[in-house]
Amino acid sequence: MTRKLFWEDMYIKDFTGKVVSAEGNQVVLDQTAFNPRGGGLVGDIGFLEGVKVADTVKGDGDSIVHVLESPAAFAVDANVQGKLDWDRRHRIMRMHTSAHLLSAIFNKKTGALITGNQIEPEKSRIDFSLENFDRERMLTYCGEANEAIAKSAPVKTYFMKRDDALKIPGITKLASAAPPDVQELRIVEIEGYDIQADGGVHIKNLNEIVKIDPLKFENKGKSNRRLYFTLP
Ligand SMILES: [Zn+2]
Repeated sequence: MTRKLFWEDMYIKDFTGKVVSAEGNQVVLDQTAFNPRGGGLVGDIGFLEGVKVADTVKGDGDSIVHVLESPAAFAVDANVQGKLDWDRRHRIMRMHTSAHLLSAIFNKKTGALITGNQIEPEKSRIDFSLENFDRERMLTYCGEANEAIAKSAPVKTYFMKRDDALKIPGITKLASAAPPDVQELRIVEIEGYDIQADGGVHIKNLNEIVKIDPLKFENKGKSNRRLYFTLP
């Protein structure tokens, strides 16, 4: 199991970890600030001892695998310096929290369930199930999200007993969401707007988003809608 430094502090950019395994271009450390691909988020990139990390993925058990651009000879038990591509990661955090906020507003206004999302640094998308599609209404909801951002609502993360968490209405807005089979669920709460069980990386305050720019709305089948958005 890799200790997730990003769960303790999502703003860690540099850290030291001890090599647990290094095979070819795949390196597992005892702890890392690199968030693995999953839940619609791309994996972090950056450097381990100056060697480029091209992707981060989930490994066996609860391990996190740094996928190097080229194989490196890291000795087991050696300490290595990790450095995130922080500009990219911070955009992912801003995009991810934006997706939560938009999902919460869409869900509240229309009852739509979120059927998927893809969070990337430059452009993200949210898929939701909705029969009646009205572009003007969607723009209004994006405007409401921007009002929330202007109010600087704090974003908190904490752990909660699984049974208690699952009693909270809307704790899983993903249509297919099955929360992980663990005793304690990690909760991400945008104060006053949203509360979700979620393992990903987020910002601490909505004001870091600055503004959500809706780019495009698409019909993807009878009741599947897709929104693309970006951030400054
Ligand atoms: Zn999320």
